[in-house]
Amino acid sequence: MTEDHPAVLALQALVRHPTVADRDPARTDPAPFTALRATLAEHFPRLHDLELTDVEPHALLVRWPGRTPGDPVVLMAHLDVVPVEDGWTHPPFAAEIHDGAVWGRGTLDDKGSVVGICAAVEELLAEGFVPSRDVWLSFGSTEEVSGTTAVDAVAQLRSRGVTPWFVLDEGGAVASGAFPMVTAPLAVVGVTEKGVTSVELVAEGAGGHASTPAANGPTARLARAITALERSPLPARAPAPTLELLRRLGPQLPAPLRPLLARADRLAPVLTRVLRAAGAEAAAMVRTTAAVTTLSGSPALNVIASSARAGVNLRVMVGDTVDGVLAHVREVVGDGVRVEVVERNEPSPVSPWDDDAFRLLERITTEEFPDAVPTPYVMMAATDARFFTAISERVYRFTPFRMTREQRATIHAADERIGVQDLLDGVRWYRRLLEELPA
Ligand SMILES: [Zn+2]
Repeated sequence: MTEDHPAVLALQALVRHPTVADRDPARTDPAPFTALRATLAEHFPRLHDLELTDVEPHALLVRWPGRTPGDPVVLMAHLDVVPVEDGWTHPPFAAEIHDGAVWGRGTLDDKGSVVGICAAVEELLAEGFVPSRDVWLSFGSTEEVSGTTAVDAVAQLRSRGVTPWFVLDEGGAVASGAFPMVTAPLAVVGVTEKGVTSVELVAEGAGGHASTPAANGPTARLARAITALERSPLPARAPAPTLELLRRLGPQLPAPLRPLLARADRLAPVLTRVLRAAGAEAAAMVRTTAAVTTLSGSPALNVIASSARAGVNLRVMVGDTVDGVLAHVREVVGDGVRVEVVERNEPSPVSPWDDDAFRLLERITTEEFPDAVPTPYVMMAATDARFFTAISERVYRFTPFRMTREQRATIHAADERIGVQDLLDGVRWYRRLLEELPA
């Protein structure tokens, strides 16, 4: 009975610890994290006999020594989850099984991966298996709050002289319903991610009584800046991983459309225009986006603002740079509005797909999910993987679980759940990856 499988029991036990981190480490309740680490040790005892390093506050680095001194492989996942909101069909931290799925916060993001990796390692240890090269496991505890554990894990690995052959973190999935007219699931492997950069637009003035307003005050200038920004987006350009995705998608499309995508490289400008026009999600695949998120002005209805501010969240596309994007924003908003940089992150370097490491992931994916089409892509969201680009040229973002469109929408939302069989298929995928690492 699959529901009694040790991996399923382990996932249920981990989900029952509400490991929600806070941006302020002092405000994170450590109890669920401590309990989760104990549960992990209980369910995966052999793994916990390997060489363990604690990374503050609750992260874990594991070294599984291999047979040869080849460059090691790093498998990543994170132990923390995002908070829950209302609207769950089944309680978010009870890990109940309904309709063949384990329901709960973190089942997909990212305790499913934690269990997938640990169960594969545990099974292989029980069989006396030794990997061909060192395998490191890095389980962060602050991924969802952009905390320090991934940075600290990278520092640890660097100090040990570890230069990974490749790094695999959460990311794309075996995603069905990802593209209109395409019935095959796409196994999308993130080879880069956009850079999250935030600025505040600030307009200042004299303020004063609302009964005697002067023209062109801070709020009017700010409003003009915001509309100007929306009217002048950054130029759209499909980056190489997106073109490769379109090329691989081609054979899945109805016959009349196939030739178009087979020549994706040459038709890049046309495809870029098509994607740009095909809705917000597709448009985000081909350009740096800017979203005005926060707004503030005067605290009272009868007071003119002396300072008006708008927060802008920018997602910097591969091929653009933070400096280039900031120059564009400054030019568009013009004089009279200051641009203050709050955080700046470049897009991640692009990892290769015409490469043995990628081909290994691709082959195992094709063999384990024969109906799926593996392809590189650009991840829109930020992951801890980006920090590992400092020590490895090959950083891939893939979660080997089947996910429907509806399931993908439950990540960071209500009703997150993973199919029991999908979890077990994922365990097998990780197992094969470990077994088939070349020397
Ligand atoms: Zn995650």
